[in-house]
Amino acid sequence: MKILVSGAGAAGLCAGIDLARAGHVVEIVERANHLRVNGSPIDVRGDALETAERMGILDAVLERRITMTERTTFVDRFGAPVASLAMEEINESSDDVELPREDLMLILRQALPEQVDLRFEESIAALAEDGDRVAVTFASGRAAAYDIVVGADGVHSAVRRLVFGPEKEFTEPLGVYVAIGDAPGEVTPGDTRVTEILNLPGLLAGVARYRDKALAIFEFRSGPIDYDHHDQAAQKRILAGAFAGIEDWKVPELLETAQHDPELYFDVLTQIHLPSWHRGRVVLIGDAAHCATPMAGRGTSLALLGAWTLTEELGRHGDDVEAAFSAYEQRQRPHAAAAQEFARGGADLVVPATWEAIEARNARLRAL
Ligand SMILES: Cc1cc2nc3c(=O)[nH]c(=O)nc-3n(C[C@H](O)[C@H](O)[C@H](O)COP(=O)(O)OP(=O)(O)OC[C@H]3O[C@@H](n4cnc5c(N)ncnc54)[C@H](O)[C@@H]3O)c2cc1C
Repeated sequence: MKILVSGAGAAGLCAGIDLARAGHVVEIVERANHLRVNGSPIDVRGDALETAERMGILDAVLERRITMTERTTFVDRFGAPVASLAMEEINESSDDVELPREDLMLILRQALPEQVDLRFEESIAALAEDGDRVAVTFASGRAAAYDIVVGADGVHSAVRRLVFGPEKEFTEPLGVYVAIGDAPGEVTPGDTRVTEILNLPGLLAGVARYRDKALAIFEFRSGPIDYDHHDQAAQKRILAGAFAGIEDWKVPELLETAQHDPELYFDVLTQIHLPSWHRGRVVLIGDAAHCATPMAGRGTSLALLGAWTLTEELGRHGDDVEAAFSAYEQRQRPHAAAAQEFARGGADLVVPATWEAIEARNARLRAL
């Protein structure tokens, strides 16, 4: 089949790898002008490890494995530790593999078969079913037809909007925004495995370290904010506004470095819930279908698993695309639902809303 994949994140690259190896002709379009590899380290967990093995990338994943954080230390407004959490208390299994997001993305890029047509600065402007094909018009003005289209374009998926309806119909916001940027001034080689976090009511500012890198992490509680998801200047203004006037600990310095990071990651933590992930010859995978938010720590594992399952079911059902999509969805749903459920309690642990809630959380941790 001739297959178009929208988005070159983990889900889109995995789809490209799996589908091309299964003999399909694959084109991937990515809106950005380069692979977006930044972000904090991610986990490959559970069934996704088996998928990585089947994809032939497990050795490379294990080689790049890190232990970013053995302990998270919560500090007060002056930087003094007030509570801490050993990661072994919350990690599900010692088999989980943590690696830098940039490493996984480059592993996937290298595994992408040469014949996959990966096009940057391109995106779908319109699509329509036309018999057994999907007719696609691209933002560049190009037009082409495909047997199926895979929406792997993340939480703010354009494919989902074009085929299923406006984003707001499918979102369950967790009421928290997140920003992650490089913090070169915080690199401390001797002390790489401690993450420091300051909580103020409804706010989190922290530093996480791995290898020779340090990341500034911000989270803040907020109702919906109206902004263009692709407008980085707007994102930086919103971040600055959320922490305006806070002089505690390292907050001003961390904010300053975030303002200068051209790859700053900023997003609202929003889950995606759709009654069905496929319509006609179009199917959604990864965050586009079932974003659980980074609070779940499972987005990348779900992306690997979903792309693999979709490819297997397409192989099993031949030309019966509807049956393949339904079977993929039936197998993937329980994994997505578990991740979404897991993420729901995350905000209260990580960004407590009040001083009382912060103190209660810290007291709970001290008692552990
Ligand atoms: C820059 C970045 C940083 C991230 N950092 C973290 C992190 O620190 N922690 C964490 O848990 N999760 C992070 N995530 C989310 C995490 O990558 C996903 O939850 C998970 O890997 C599932 O991936 P996905 O491919 O479904 O979605 P994504 O990783 O969001 O990938 C979607 C891709 O589609 C592209 N795209 C978007 N719109 C269009 C369009 N209209 N046309 C074509 N392409 C489009 C995007 O540029 C992106 O490359 C990050 C995502 C991004 C994009």
